[in-house]
Amino acid sequence: MTPPAIVILGAGALATARRIQALYAGSQVHALQGRVEADVSYTELRAHLCDLYARGTPIIALCAAGIVIRCVAALLSNKGVEPPVLAVAEDGSAVVPLLGGLAGVNVMAREIAAELAVSPAITTSGELRFGTCVLNPPEGYALADIAQGKRFVSDLLAGETTRIEGEAPWLDCAQLPRSESARLAIRVTPRAWDGRDDELVIHPRSVVAAVTVVGTDTAPGANADADADGNADAGTGTSAHPATNAGLGAKSSPDAQTNSGARITALVREALDAHGLAALSLAALLASPEHMANPALADAAASLNVPLRFAQPRPEDGEPPGNLLHAALRVPYEMLHNNADAGVALALAPLAIDPDTIGRARGRLTVIGLGPGSADLMVPAARTALNEATDILGYETYVKMAGPLRADQRVHGTDNREEMQRARHAFELASTGRSVVMVSSGDPGVFAMAAAVLEALEEGGSTNADWRAVQLAIVPGVSAAMATAAQAGAPLGHDFCMLSLSDNLKPWTIIETRLRHAAEADLVMAFYNPISRARPWQLDRALDIVREYRSTATKVVLGRDIGRSGSTLRTITLGELRSSDVDMRTMVIVGSSTTRAFANGVDGEWVYTPRWYE
Ligand code: SAH
Repeated sequence: MTPPAIVILGAGALATARRIQALYAGSQVHALQGRVEADVSYTELRAHLCDLYARGTPIIALCAAGIVIRCVAALLSNKGVEPPVLAVAEDGSAVVPLLGGLAGVNVMAREIAAELAVSPAITTSGELRFGTCVLNPPEGYALADIAQGKRFVSDLLAGETTRIEGEAPWLDCAQLPRSESARLAIRVTPRAWDGRDDELVIHPRSVVAAVTVVGTDTAPGANADADADGNADAGTGTSAHPATNAGLGAKSSPDAQTNSGARITALVREALDAHGLAALSLAALLASPEHMANPALADAAASLNVPLRFAQPRPEDGEPPGNLLHAALRVPYEMLHNNADAGVALALAPLAIDPDTIGRARGRLTVIGLGPGSADLMVPAARTALNEATDILGYETYVKMAGPLRADQRVHGTDNREEMQRARHAFELASTGRSVVMVSSGDPGVFAMAAAVLEALEEGGSTNADWRAVQLAIVPGVSAAMATAAQAGAPLGHDFCMLSLSDNLKPWTIIETRLRHAAEADLVMAFYNPISRARPWQLDRALDIVREYRSTATKVVLGRDIGRSGSTLRTITLGELRSSDVDMRTMVIVGSSTTRAFANGVDGEWVYTPRWYE
């Protein structure tokens, strides 16, 4: 579940909000800017709630129920996608589930109410009568048809009784009107629902489909393997890799990729149909690790809406594709289908199978930027990557900034200097199937970890297929220059460059040459790593060079710890600037000849560089 947003309007709600936050790992307290400080700030309640709602984020608002309803009213027409929305009295005395009955709002209401030692204001009649939401089965089970489900529950509410067929342990403690001779039945079965309206069908996710039908491996880094496989297939004509047999299209064309993804999906669906199984009974799609980076498999898993897992068959596991099931499954199962020509095998287990226990996942490495510091300047994709991570790597200060993390997430904090070692460590972890996030501050591609990660992959990947199979993604962030510029106004409004003044990894002469050219070209300059105890003289030398080309009146912006607590922003001139005004937590933006400033009406000035030249 996406961690909820706990939204407060004033300081009076903070203590209750923090108690609720402790229940939901990864959740954050969102507070109205200027009134109270928490994890994320927002400026307008209605816009903020609508934004959260539209993203499907569960909302716990510590304010009047009416306020919450009015804020999201315009978005309520589509019931299918609504996240849980609850109103909680700011003193914790009332918990009111408002929306998201099918997304578990009543479960959340009970959890929060238990923490606050009050009774939740549950109003759902089926739930009140039966003590559970029959239409919201637990993880591992899927309701066949929601419209039928609603009709079924209203029949029960109207006084009908029901039988239960199949294993439904979560209904054991429900107060359902049971009767062995009932006309209605709750049926827990992997078989497809045949449309009868006297039964409520719930599918256990108890079927696994293994496929050897694989199209082209066209993901970056997988090309060498694909060629080798392709040649072997063409040469031997065996069906070990039936890609060629199944006629799955030419290499590398985007159509071939989509076709083979769609083709795998169709083959799995056909096999399920042939056995009368519902697509919702599928727990996972399984393939061999040599095709881990194949986009067709990922497409097929996405369209079947199941996790993609991998297993390496052993000689004793028999013929493909059934051998994949044998290698991957740790529970008893029945092999329903094992068609080597089509390249599909199906296993049916007696109960729902946790997909995490089937073989292993494709490992992921996501390099994210946290932004300058405050959570609201972190892009949502970075927050999502953090929520999905099993392992988090990075310099300790940044790992702390990335929190709050869950107890089940492993943190591998390291000293800032061991960047290459950390990058290799990330690939080692990810290639065992874990979801690894590497954190940088600002943007990960600006003087940070993304380049180190790619360097490690280029060096180590050529000899290590497991590293190449890792799903690597880089998520951008708000860089310190952008964050500082935005606070000052728009000093980067025209051409600019970013320079690191650190000569740890490049010769000082290169820095001098670049400074001269940038200064001569009248570029605005953003200096990263301007000074440190180990590099005491370099900033003065850099400023001497700039002063050869720019007047003493040139505007300079100094942003220190921008987006963090205790941040400072100063605007001075190049003439006034001393290296003692700057430390390693400062961003120095030196204006161009056109950068200007005017009073901002408070106590400082707006600095900007016009978009035009005279
Ligand atoms: N990847 C980071 C930069 C890392 S280099 C980014 O894109 O922002 C580290 C330098 O960035 C620091 O020496 C400082 O010059 C600057 N910096 C990073 N965070 C900052 C912040 N919150 N405020 C001001 N400068 C910052």
